[in-house]
Amino acid sequence: MTTSGTDTSVVVIGAGQAGLSVSFYLKRLGLEPGNDFVVLDRGPGTGGAWQHRWDALRLGSAHRVADLPGMDALGLSFETADRTLAARDVVADYYAQYETFYDLKVVRPASVTDIQNAGADLVVNVWDPEGDQQVTTSIVVNATGTWGSPFVPWYPGRNDFLGRQIHTSDYVSAEELAGKNVVVVGGGTSAIGFLLELESSAASLTWVSRSPIVYLDDTELNIEAAVAAVAMADEAARAGKALPSIVSGTGVARTRRIQAGIDRGLLVAKPMFSAIEPTGVRWADGTFQEADVILWATGFRPELRHLASLKLREKAGGITVAGGTSWRDPRIFFAGYGPQASTIGANRAGRTIARQVVAALSRR
Ligand code: FAD
Repeated sequence: MTTSGTDTSVVVIGAGQAGLSVSFYLKRLGLEPGNDFVVLDRGPGTGGAWQHRWDALRLGSAHRVADLPGMDALGLSFETADRTLAARDVVADYYAQYETFYDLKVVRPASVTDIQNAGADLVVNVWDPEGDQQVTTSIVVNATGTWGSPFVPWYPGRNDFLGRQIHTSDYVSAEELAGKNVVVVGGGTSAIGFLLELESSAASLTWVSRSPIVYLDDTELNIEAAVAAVAMADEAARAGKALPSIVSGTGVARTRRIQAGIDRGLLVAKPMFSAIEPTGVRWADGTFQEADVILWATGFRPELRHLASLKLREKAGGITVAGGTSWRDPRIFFAGYGPQASTIGANRAGRTIARQVVAALSRR
């Protein structure tokens, strides 16, 4: 990296949908990439979290993936992307073309480890292959997503299980789990996707969910329900509370594939087990299910460890963020956080946050 000792006005952390969208609008508002603002991304490649997702995941198999702002100028759209290819490869390729086209000068691999207050400025500590570096800046836009912060709930006996426990973020392919007794935990689209994928290769499949699955009548995600779920996430972010799962607020659309899975009895979740034993899981009524693998499709939390020194966290468990701005420190912006945690939300965040950043710079 060539940012050692660099002063810049804005550091954007993360080059996923949110970070790229903010960068696009910052540039459009007249800031020069690599000079007025610097985008740091852990990488190793382009694509944000998508580059790490499993082979079989295709675009549109969960939800719509919105195009980045200005992507039409490249003649690209996720709507017309090749759905026979792995989503991770398509997104990595489109983001790479986008970064080049708009010359966003993303620095990677560059991992932000800590941010310190230095009077009116902020000192961003960064690790890259050349070692530790520091970048001094006026404003930080945090767009670090959630992929680096997998969430696994605690259940008694979790540490005594003799099989494998893997989280969505570790999942590679159905072949890897072929012939195994698999317990899938979670009530979202990832859990459903895993069940559909593993159906023909696992020795047995058991699905458990903490809350009953709410199947919608619609064959696509109900926009009304999504609006309500986004509003819930916004309310939590504004109150500095831990963020609720968007899926628990939206329900699951009955696509043709999902309806067929319900009809053949695959997509019927049991209630949560009460304990994990060395060779399986046990429910409160004494029922036991043997397991070689517990697959935790239990979601993610915002990745915020590198912000700890700024002491933004509230007693309520979250960070107070309203309209993308930290309530405790107005120099810190959050893109893709809470209500913005979808590709469409990340796009909107880009525009609003870039405007606020430029306004904040003009006040300094
Ligand atoms: P990310 O894509 O996670 O990007 C964050 C970037 O920040 C990464 O490149 C990361 O390396 C970098 N980073 C993190 N920490 C640091 C650090 N300390 N220093 C430097 N860089 C750092 N949404 C949809 O709209 N449609 C879908 O179909 C959809 N499918 C999904 C499927 C799965 C399995 C999951 C888990 C999520 C899905 N989502 C979907 C949500 C989706 O991930 C988001 O909408 C969007 O891609 C997130 O973009 P982001 O920029 O906020 O985060």
